[in-house]
Amino acid sequence: MIKRILDHIRTLPDFDFEGKRAFVRVDFNCPMDRREVADNTRIASTIPTIRYILDHGGRVIIASHLGRPEGYEEEFSIKPVARELGRLLSEEVRVLPFDLGGEDPGSWKDSENRVLMTENLRFYSGETRGDEDLAAFLSETADIYINDAFGASHRKHLSVYALPGYFTEKGIGFLVEKELKAFCKVLKDPEKPYTVIMGGSKVSDKIKVLEHLLPVADQFLIGGAMAYTLLKAKGCDVGASRVEKDRLDTARRILEEAEHLKKDFILPVDHCLVKTVDRPGEKIYSRQIETGYMGVDIGPETVRLFSAFIRKAKTIVWNGPMGIFEIPDYAVGTNRVAEEVSRSGAYTVVGGGDSVRALRALGVGDEVGHMSTGGGASLKLLEGNGLPGINILLESP
Ligand code: ADP
Ligand code: MG
Repeated sequence: MIKRILDHIRTLPDFDFEGKRAFVRVDFNCPMDRREVADNTRIASTIPTIRYILDHGGRVIIASHLGRPEGYEEEFSIKPVARELGRLLSEEVRVLPFDLGGEDPGSWKDSENRVLMTENLRFYSGETRGDEDLAAFLSETADIYINDAFGASHRKHLSVYALPGYFTEKGIGFLVEKELKAFCKVLKDPEKPYTVIMGGSKVSDKIKVLEHLLPVADQFLIGGAMAYTLLKAKGCDVGASRVEKDRLDTARRILEEAEHLKKDFILPVDHCLVKTVDRPGEKIYSRQIETGYMGVDIGPETVRLFSAFIRKAKTIVWNGPMGIFEIPDYAVGTNRVAEEVSRSGAYTVVGGGDSVRALRALGVGDEVGHMSTGGGASLKLLEGNGLPGINILLESP
């Protein structure tokens, strides 16, 4: 699937931007602090796309969502983001008024401003509900449609899913291209041995990813809360650890499938245990989980076990932290695994919002391979069916 997409989708060099305006859907849903951009990573990562279009004689209209406002809410205005974009681009960025009622889209398209930006797309109910009036208006503001919003491409929202249908000329920006290439490398003909590290909160979130990767990868190292549903399904005592009781059958099915395919499917052999999460000072490490204790991190023996596989791996996919990493006392396992991964020579793709946050907090960055900018989107891609907002770009209008 992903290989077919990369072979057939149009990328920036395939377009002639001279004298034209491109509608560029981006994901500028940045962390904000008192109405200022607190982390501009997402803006910075699309600068090459915008710069390329401007440098090739084009003009742009940029559009993004920001937060989850219900209709117009001043505090979610895109203006601070537009200011930061202007600063990074050294260009004036003009923001369209929120009320598009009396506006003529054609005049925006032809305006002298090289960089325009729409207000927060979530201000318009049409964005989530798919109201075609909004799509019709936006489509007349530009000649070419470019999706560079990797982190928003798993949703069927108007600006990524219905809007491209209004354009004959459509394709992807450099950020989306980079993401697709990285995922293609681990989904199609990956170098072996291939190790999947998986953790995080729920088996239910990751079940389709596991099912898709089971036949492809060689080893599966499982930590986080999801390990306890799997351990319980195997009949182990997991005390008060977080278990998805309604997923025990699914967990059993996964374990059987792994055995049938003769894969190494490694669950934690020791744990960091507490009676209540908010008393990290009382943590203990143990192989057995006594009644009343819950697992909040993988233990040192498990780290050693996992490390042996990581050191041999040539390809690694990592999704989901090994414990409640937000609390430093329970971040030891995640951090040790992160160190091993960054030291290994394997080509690594890290997907999942929390996993990327955990690694960045440690100072581990792009040198590991690829740190995906999309949490939900990266998981969806690992399920093997592409992304709605990307697949749609392959269809003719
Ligand atoms: P990602 O965003 O990388 O896909 P998830 O959202 O699936 O990861 O999981 C991250 C969350 O899982 C974190 O908030 C973390 O605290 C939680 N978590 C990890 N291990 C445990 C555990 N043993 N018990 C409860 N929660 C856990
Ligand atoms: Mg998450």
